[in-house]
Amino acid sequence: MPMVSFALHGIGVSGGIAIGRAQLISHATLEVAHYSIPQSQVPAEIARFAAAIGEVKGELEGLHGAMTSDDVPGEFGAFLDVHWMILNDPTLSEAPKRIIAEQHCNAEWALTLQMGVLVEQFEQIEDSYLRERKSDVVQVGERVLKRLMGRPGILPAPGIEEQTIIVAHDLSPADVIQFKHHRFGAFLTDLGGNTSHTAIVARSLNVPAVVATHNARALIRDGEMVIVDGGNHVVIVNPDRAVLSEYRLKQGEFDLARQKLKRLRSKRADTLDGVHVELQANIELPEDIEQALANGATGIGLFRSEFLFLNRADLPSEDEQFEAFRKVAAGMQGKPVTIRTFDLGADKHKEGLEGLSRVAPNPALGLRAIRYCLAEPRLFLTQLRAILRATHYGNVRILIPMLASASEIDQTLVLIEQAKESLREQDVPFDPRVAIGGMIEIPAAVLAMGAFLRKLDFLSIGTNDLIQYTLAVDRSDEAVSHLYDELHPAVLRLIGLAIGNATKAEVPIAICGEMAGDMRLTRLLLGLGLREFSMHPAHLLGVKQRVLKADVSAMAPLIDRLRRADEPDKLHALLGKINA
Ligand code: PEP
Ligand code: MG
Repeated sequence: MPMVSFALHGIGVSGGIAIGRAQLISHATLEVAHYSIPQSQVPAEIARFAAAIGEVKGELEGLHGAMTSDDVPGEFGAFLDVHWMILNDPTLSEAPKRIIAEQHCNAEWALTLQMGVLVEQFEQIEDSYLRERKSDVVQVGERVLKRLMGRPGILPAPGIEEQTIIVAHDLSPADVIQFKHHRFGAFLTDLGGNTSHTAIVARSLNVPAVVATHNARALIRDGEMVIVDGGNHVVIVNPDRAVLSEYRLKQGEFDLARQKLKRLRSKRADTLDGVHVELQANIELPEDIEQALANGATGIGLFRSEFLFLNRADLPSEDEQFEAFRKVAAGMQGKPVTIRTFDLGADKHKEGLEGLSRVAPNPALGLRAIRYCLAEPRLFLTQLRAILRATHYGNVRILIPMLASASEIDQTLVLIEQAKESLREQDVPFDPRVAIGGMIEIPAAVLAMGAFLRKLDFLSIGTNDLIQYTLAVDRSDEAVSHLYDELHPAVLRLIGLAIGNATKAEVPIAICGEMAGDMRLTRLLLGLGLREFSMHPAHLLGVKQRVLKADVSAMAPLIDRLRRADEPDKLHALLGKINA
């Protein structure tokens, strides 16, 4: 069949250009069909299952064989060994054959049933290390399922990752965070919005990504040549030679521009008229501080601690969380480290935790973040103790997400006091004057900000949620992504009001939502009075360049007009002038 060239449009959530071969991935277990097999076909079905097991053995052997290169981490080998053992265990490689024979069902269904049995057995295990191996069983089972369903496994062989374009219908934030250990060329998904957590984590991988392509997963075939242009929100499949060479040129220019920005790494971020600006980093995992420091971050403005809870069957213990926080606190060498208490719920699920199920009637408005923590104080106290212990090793601050009312602040402060008291009783050192901050993510928090200003030491505006809740647009739903508008006059008014109130009350205020890392908005936010930005490390130097060229006092009259504008056209025109 001749290769047909076509383009797809979506939302580019991470800029840059990648050129590579498509690798389709899927949540195999969600798509397993169930059908009956006539008795005469049973031996053939068993043989099909055995062939899939054999293929995955070959796949794992291939990965092992390719592991001579120095850049493959040691844990990768250990992880392959565990998968090899699981694959060879009769409970996975033989039991489904018996199910096919007894129940006359297809191989995929038999394997899914057996995986269910194994997962249940693992959940009963007391030893937490062994219990965690449940996820390995699931991963191996999924590899076999993908083979059965004619799909390859999720991990391309080391060495070719950078030329691999991942194409998926949907990816959860938990899926994407796993990719941090690999260097894929780019991501494409059918679903998702610009500030969904999937997009945020994809952005943190620092590779081009386009979401909300609607049907990329159905239209693109495995192995097809794909160009992803994240900055222009476009994907080109099977490009002809002229298009390919044009994009190779563009890719070179983009990489060069990024390289040049590195010169700004240790330059102080001051505007032309001498206004100093703090540029801090958002991180998801402790190892991200390397990238933060490499891009000149003056602190960590947001550590999304909930990522410590994902991709595991159990909960991280106090010691484990403490170790992660201590590592960041010490690694940042006295620079501020803002640890946000875990924000699970909405689009970040934690299986096994009652109240955080996927079927909440309206998860974004449900039991999420601080609401969940106040409902489950035991879990919250464990984390608070871990953060407080880390204050002894660096400049740590505590940030509370999704606060809406004074009573939530009061309850939180009581629990922090309780955590402090329990540490005192055990003579565990911590900084008793640790700063406690709140996120401004709900319009109610801006409109009734007095309690926030009186009771908290600092504030941070989470624009991703503030926009979602102001405009009633689910940030992860691509069906309404065209309505998600950070330049809506109501959003700008709330941001301006929050910054104005905090500045007047002399309470430090930052923005840590995605708006902070958007270079088109740097001058606008400076004009609204913002002096602390926190963003993904990859955006720090680009934003710094904008700060260095801004003149806050000169743009004040335009900012005043923009504050009053409520027609989108006028607003966009004014923004154009501010950025000119
Ligand atoms: C936000 O809502 O802007 C924010 C920074 O928090 P998160 O994206 O993790 O919800
Ligand atoms: Mg938020």
